[in-house]
Amino acid sequence: MSKLIVFDCDSTLSEIEGVDELARAKGADVFNQCVQLTNDAMDGSVPIADVFAKRLDLIQPTEALCQEVGQLYIQKIESSAKETIATLQKEGWDVVILSGGFSNVIQPFAAHLNIAHIEAVPLFFNADGSYQGFDERYPTTRNGGKPEIIHQLLEKYQPETSVMVGDGVSDLETQEHVSKFIGFGGFTPREKVKAKAKHYITQLSDLLDIV
Ligand SMILES: [Mg+2]
Repeated sequence: MSKLIVFDCDSTLSEIEGVDELARAKGADVFNQCVQLTNDAMDGSVPIADVFAKRLDLIQPTEALCQEVGQLYIQKIESSAKETIATLQKEGWDVVILSGGFSNVIQPFAAHLNIAHIEAVPLFFNADGSYQGFDERYPTTRNGGKPEIIHQLLEKYQPETSVMVGDGVSDLETQEHVSKFIGFGGFTPREKVKAKAKHYITQLSDLLDIV
């Protein structure tokens, strides 16, 4: 029987938020507008799906920029992540990354962590590497997307036990769908997650004592 552990990426496996770094590279004006859009979504005044498209329209991320930010994920890796994942894999866990970020940007980081399975939003580029668009049907572009993917993963892996690890409220939404949810507060502690998560850690290696 298999065991499945699913990690959020941004502010969990790595300190950065990929979309923020893409925006930052486009200057203060784009960065500030993107932060405002993210806040609007948090307030609930704009649907997440709407903000998702607007931010990317502002940023217009090129393929080259995505590769740069991909390297930043590696530079800002959580200090115990690589060793913890290697240990889990040795103990027979299937390890998956589940992110509201972008699969193209996360890919080099996942390779660095020896994780083959990434669930994240695909970006599309034109032949010259300029931004074309994103997969608007992908579940993590909207509220409730992470539980939806978790159900697909449970279907695929049929694990005897399942664990989700993440810092955000969108990660917390999966708590009732997995055997164990572990909140992570090593980079960006969030009160709601800390209060509601049945398990809570601030260093990834601490999860080895919980799973
Ligand atoms: Mg996160």
